[in-house]
Order: sequence, then structure tokens, then C-alpha cells
Amino acid sequence: MSGAGRFVRHGLAATTGRRMPFALSYHGLGEESPEDDPHGLMTHPDAFAAQLDALLGLGYRLVGVSELWDAVARGEAEGLGAITFDDGLADSMHAASALCAERGVTPTMFLAPGLFGEDHPDLPPGRRILRADEVPALEAAGAEIGAHSHGHVELPVLPPERQRGELRRSRAELEALLGHPVTTMAYPFGRHDATTVALAAEAGYTVACANDGAGPWAALALPREPVHPSTSLARLRLKSAGLYGPVLLLKRLKGRRPGFR
Ligand SMILES: [Zn+2]
Repeated sequence: MSGAGRFVRHGLAATTGRRMPFALSYHGLGEESPEDDPHGLMTHPDAFAAQLDALLGLGYRLVGVSELWDAVARGEAEGLGAITFDDGLADSMHAASALCAERGVTPTMFLAPGLFGEDHPDLPPGRRILRADEVPALEAAGAEIGAHSHGHVELPVLPPERQRGELRRSRAELEALLGHPVTTMAYPFGRHDATTVALAAEAGYTVACANDGAGPWAALALPREPVHPSTSLARLRLKSAGLYGPVLLLKRLKGRRPGFR
């Protein structure tokens, strides 16, 4: 669907006061300077708490992505949202777990078992990713755990057999750790194509998250809006209403920025 089409669809919904379902994607919680966090992965913990409170204040119930998708598929997702985290930064997941549990929010954490215990490659040294032994406690505290490939690789650039291996191995290792099926995942960097989607289905995933903003709902390309350190509460409201992308598009078109795509 085109950006303009989405604007009409969500714009009409917004004017009728409906609370459209949404999924937000975060990476971590922290106070890194922009120099230490050039990719904008970290959200200040106070800002995250304020964002949760704002969404709850709007009347949203914040659920795991599997519950969100089940509701979308039934046509009963109005007023539901999902808060998701990619990569499993250890301190951040413990902090997010506590902030979510206090508020009755189910976060979803997408983990790449091949990175367990390592420092995050895009942050200063010391920002450690969860160890395997820390994961069951996060689930026990209320998080939904999903996969994020095994080695955090950009799947579509790999040959199908290697993609298949990444998708299956991550699922198998998380299932061995948790003792139950793991059927949700997020594509690393949000990157996926038709082959990747088919392989995700073949590997047994029922929900797989993309990361490129609001869009048509699809189980294996579930749209998520990324949240960055610069995401204000006003911008968050646009993102949760599915309006952020269309508003940005209109602003850019008005500015006649050459080369916009
Ligand atoms: Zn990631």
C-alpha cells in the first residue's frame, strides 16, 4: 500500500477516535550520548516509562506480539499495542522487564542466541547482551521471548540454505532453553524478502516482525515502528496511530527534498 493510501486509512480511523493496533520496536534503555550511540538504539529509561504511561493513559493494553497478531487476525485488535525489544541487551532487558511488570505490560524480547554473553557490536564496550541463563527469568517475569536469527545476520543476502539454518537454529536453541515452542521472531535489521518470509514459515514461525514503520498487517511481515532517542511523546502518538510515516512523507514532499525515496 502506498504512503498516501495508509494516510487515508489511518487518518480516517484517527478522526473517528479509534485506537488502531500498533507495534513499537526498541533496542535498549540507557543514557548514552549521541556519540556513543550513533545508531540511536538507546532510549532513556525515564522516557521509556513516560511512553508506556502515555500509551496506557490513552487506554491501550500492551501485549506480546503473538497475542497482538492473534487479535489482528480475528479483527479484534483495537486498543492493543506491542512493545518489542531487539538484540537482548542485558541491563536494558532487566530494566525494561521491571518497568513493564509494574504496569502490567508484556514486553516481547527478540534474541539471537549466537550473541549471548557478547558485547553489543554497535555500542561502547560493556553493553553486554544477555547470557542464556538469564533468559528464563525474563520470561518468568512476564516477557514474551522470540527469535532474532542465530547470529544476527541480514537474512536476504544469504543463500536460502544458510537462511534456513539461521532461522531453525535460533528457534531450536531458544526452545531448548525455555522448554516450550518459540514461534515468534523479528528479522535482523528488519530485512526480509519473499524467500526469507517463506523460509520463516517453513521454520515454524507464525509471527515475524519487520521494522520499517506502519504498514499493512501481515503475520510474517508484522509492521513495527522504530523508537529512537529523539522520539518525543507527540511523535510516539503519531507512531502508535500509524500516522508518523505519512506525516513525515508529507513534510518531506512539502520541502521538495530532491532524491527522496
Ligand atoms: Zn537486531
